[in-house]
Amino acid sequence: MSTAMEQVPEVPARLVFASGEWTEARARVIERSPAWRRSSALANLSLWLLIPLVFFIPPHIPWVLLVFFLGAYRAFNRFREQRTLVSLRGKCPKCGTEQEFSELGRMKYPHVVRCSNCQWDLRLEAPLAGAAS
Ligand SMILES: [Zn+2]
Repeated sequence: MSTAMEQVPEVPARLVFASGEWTEARARVIERSPAWRRSSALANLSLWLLIPLVFFIPPHIPWVLLVFFLGAYRAFNRFREQRTLVSLRGKCPKCGTEQEFSELGRMKYPHVVRCSNCQWDLRLEAPLAGAAS
């Protein structure tokens, strides 16, 4: 899985500070197809197969509810994961610190990352893969 992720090309992106200042960053983004989102959501729903097993652990019902909602939550997030951020590095537009950001995974709209040095929130703007850069 990690080798497949490293094959995702880096694209130019922008880190935008609230005042409008921005810097160029490098991001690796995977565009997710509706088919991937459906099958990935279903795979997470398979967590529900554990429900009959955890039911035997006292106090029974809380475990069943936990596994049920955990599976539903993970499946829901996968279903709305249209883009996955694999890596992001760049310079903070506020303090200029070059860094590797850790807020990866499902991209939110807007996707906000935090500078490890000045602790300000930065908005990530990444073009769609295949779009002219
Ligand atoms: Zn900073």
